[in-house]
Amino acid sequence: MEVRRTVPVKLDVDSHDAALLRETVDEFLLAANYVADHAWQGEYKTTSKAQLQEETYDEVRDRTRLHANLVQNARNKAADAVQGVVARWKQGEYAGKPHFSQPTAVYDKRCATFHDEYVSLATVDGRIEVEYVLPDGDRDTPHSRYLDNDDYEVTGAELHNTDGEWFLHLRTKAEVEFDTPEQATTQHSTVLGVDLGVNQLAVTSTGTFWSGHEFDHWRREYENRRASLQRCGSRHAHENIQSVGRKETGRFTMMLHRIANGIIEEAAENGCTVVAFEELTGIRDRLPGASWGHKWAFKRLYEYVAYKAEMHGIDVEQVGPENTSRRCSHCGFTHPDNRDGEKFECLKCGYENHADYNAAKNIGLRYLRRNQTGDGGGAPVGVRLNRGTLNANGEYEPPAEDSGQSGSPRESPTLNEANGQAVSE
Ligand SMILES: [Zn+2]
Repeated sequence: MEVRRTVPVKLDVDSHDAALLRETVDEFLLAANYVADHAWQGEYKTTSKAQLQEETYDEVRDRTRLHANLVQNARNKAADAVQGVVARWKQGEYAGKPHFSQPTAVYDKRCATFHDEYVSLATVDGRIEVEYVLPDGDRDTPHSRYLDNDDYEVTGAELHNTDGEWFLHLRTKAEVEFDTPEQATTQHSTVLGVDLGVNQLAVTSTGTFWSGHEFDHWRREYENRRASLQRCGSRHAHENIQSVGRKETGRFTMMLHRIANGIIEEAAENGCTVVAFEELTGIRDRLPGASWGHKWAFKRLYEYVAYKAEMHGIDVEQVGPENTSRRCSHCGFTHPDNRDGEKFECLKCGYENHADYNAAKNIGLRYLRRNQTGDGGGAPVGVRLNRGTLNANGEYEPPAEDSGQSGSPRESPTLNEANGQAVSE
């Protein structure tokens, strides 16, 4: 079976090469946006790569100094994105025309040569050779596991710029033989579902809860102090409001960074290549009791997770929110009465669990189903749970170390000590 992993590597780039990479990425984005705009013309969106190639290649070559293969990769990126939008429409979700602004460019073996300690990359002005900044080879890192491992071959990479630093997310693959299907499942990449809420700010499909209690407490305190200061109405009071605001914003921000770090750690430790959130648009209307502060917090949290995820080569995605809290993650039965506050109990199959945990699993499942490509390649094949995984059909697969045990395939309940929440599969 084929296994794929992405390994982020920092690049040691001097200022001359940095300028070239910057121009290359700019022209790559220009090319991708040109193709996306072209595909978008007319009532029917063009998703065929061959047709887009035919219709845009010459024009993009004229407008840029890109290597021919970078032009093709930009076209593929645009075609995939338009295809993704059309797929979401078919599921009744809203999605607009793709636009590319993140500083990235896609390389394959025709426009890059991957060596053990450096890479040769095509730019808008010929090739450059750039050294990798690698961690200590004796430590257990993705680099030692996949890059220094002869079983894994580098097939391509995505060039990223994050805060002025250049990274290459190397795509690797290996042919691996597994003794058991369970072992194969745990080697596959998986998705981590995250549910956002008021009582629990965030809950992952692995069963970690971050309570909203602390956030609520600060937010109320802040609103009360602000209200009483406003009643004074003086200039001094106005300045006080601003300083209270700054202090509270700092506290909230620190808390959100802590949660974001926790989510990323959870994803990295469990080998998840994707973190899926529900769509943030309209979240305040969907959540009873959510305030402007929650909306602000969710948006920040999402941004922090997306930012931190990039360093780990993890993708962060949003999926349609419809019925994720009413649907049974076990049998799929969807009904508003399945849920009663924090308690979820399926009216059809009797599955019981914490409502937000059930929703986090549904969010992971929705991502899986939306992205089922059937190529068996790098796309996640399961939702990572507290122990084991759920496949796209909602079937539970136990972790590999349990494969020797017989009996119930169900996950045993575990207690999340920080929040005292018991979750079971
Ligand atoms: Zn059910």
